[in-house]
Amino acid sequence: MRILSIGGGPAGLYFSLLVKRKHSDWPVRVVERNAPDATFGWGVVFNDKTQNYLRDQDEPSWRDITKAFETWDNVDVVHRGRKISIHGNRFSGIQRLAMLQILQKHCREAGVELEFGKELAKPADWEGYDLVVAADGVNSAIRRMYAADFAPSVDVRPNRYVWYGTPTLFHGLTLTFRENPDGLWIAHSYKFNRTTSTFIVECDPETWRTAGMAGRDEAATREYLQEVFREDLQGRPLLSNKSAWLNFNLVRNAHWTRGNMVLIGDALHTAHFSIGSGTRLALEDSIALFRALEEKDSVSSALAAFELARRPKVEDLQAAAQESMEWFETAKKFMRMAPVELAYVLMTRSGKIDHENLRRRDPAFATAYEEWKEGIGP
Ligand SMILES: Cc1cc2nc3c(=O)[nH]c(=O)nc-3n(C[C@H](O)[C@H](O)[C@H](O)COP(=O)(O)OP(=O)(O)OC[C@H]3O[C@@H](n4cnc5c(N)ncnc54)[C@H](O)[C@@H]3O)c2cc1C
Repeated sequence: MRILSIGGGPAGLYFSLLVKRKHSDWPVRVVERNAPDATFGWGVVFNDKTQNYLRDQDEPSWRDITKAFETWDNVDVVHRGRKISIHGNRFSGIQRLAMLQILQKHCREAGVELEFGKELAKPADWEGYDLVVAADGVNSAIRRMYAADFAPSVDVRPNRYVWYGTPTLFHGLTLTFRENPDGLWIAHSYKFNRTTSTFIVECDPETWRTAGMAGRDEAATREYLQEVFREDLQGRPLLSNKSAWLNFNLVRNAHWTRGNMVLIGDALHTAHFSIGSGTRLALEDSIALFRALEEKDSVSSALAAFELARRPKVEDLQAAAQESMEWFETAKKFMRMAPVELAYVLMTRSGKIDHENLRRRDPAFATAYEEWKEGIGP
């Protein structure tokens, strides 16, 4: 079987690796428009569950990925300058580029044909393959080109965000709320290696406008945000990777396949970064597609099986991510809360964690919240 992956992000690389490891005689080609050492963004997080999936599928790449992990078990919520830590939430951070380069290395070793610096744009580019995997990311040109078949919906959300790095190390998933005369600024930060943290800043459109962000260039934007988060950054800088304000695009597709072509990863669906699951979804798509190919005896029945197995899981996660995204979009209304109350509301926002679950994760935090409710705690 001849396979082409359009895009060499986590989805395209991992799927190609799994196929090639199992079928060394199948030609598997990945075409990526960027160079092998180029990427957007900084670090991403994974939960423990994802790690187990990766180990079960391909132990050598799992070993290298987990070696590059920074692991923690706390979510920190900073509000009115006070930090509340909630333990029992195990996550790992990894530099996005490091993860891509590990996957590239394993693909190369397995015999996947990797081609960089080439953008596939016309139907002739994907003719002659038995299976074409469109893993070309959130702005997928393939999805747009065949919109009549995939029937996508792209919901452009109102909040703005910008994805920075910083040498300040945040030991845990840290959510920081800072108000100034222009409005409310929220930072999502965590370290992803020994020297750097991801630092995503999010704000609502009113705050963005009032602060005059449209008229600020990249340096002026960074200077402004460094001042907003001066205390949290401990005077250290924000680092840019062509970092610019964006709106989050919530992607869904009514149809996932078109003949022998299938969308996977962000091209197929997105999940708000506040629940840190986009890469996990992309990797799980790769695993599900690989399994469907193994189980079925034709590409068309494999693609149907892939969608049948995967759609409910994707929709479930997108629903939780939507709750979380909307929470952050309306975060202003929670700012009158005391720090411990805000931390509690934040932890339970998606409905997946309730009081008993929180108590199991971190009894001290559950007690602090109960005491605050009874008026005996800060
Ligand atoms: C601010 C932010 C923070 C995030 N944090 C997390 C996190 O903490 N944890 C997490 O799990 N996820 C996170 N994500 C989501 C994660 O980045 C994506 O879900 C993940 O990268 C999706 O992988 P992918 O392979 O589908 O797409 P991508 O990683 O976007 O890869 C697609 C690739 O296709 C290439 N390409 C596109 N078009 C073509 C073409 N025509 N020809 C050739 N190549 C092409 C692109 O250059 C790109 O390399 C975050 C996202 C954002 C925006």
